[in-house]
Amino acid sequence: MPRWCEEREINGHRMILCHSGPRPQAKCYICGRPAPYLCDYVLEFGLENPTCDRPLCNEHRVKKGKDTDYCPEHEELSRQRSEAER
Ligand SMILES: [Zn+2]
Ligand SMILES: [Zn+2]
Repeated sequence: MPRWCEEREINGHRMILCHSGPRPQAKCYICGRPAPYLCDYVLEFGLENPTCDRPLCNEHRVKKGKDTDYCPEHEELSRQRSEAER
């Protein structure tokens, strides 16, 4: 399930609101078409595990698992990583 967060100011307080599901009206970062998917690549392992979250259309997402999609750039990176681990 794609997750996305936004920063909003509510009554002068900075709040991070997180939602599950596709980001509304997101556009693919490559071609600009409607993007129902987000890159799930974890940029940094830690408490919050921030992910890349680039919006991706059906054509440009790289399916990595049931609920996991990568952008082409991070697909490449994850492949290099797993090769380096060997
Ligand atoms: Zn696209
Ligand atoms: Zn990515």
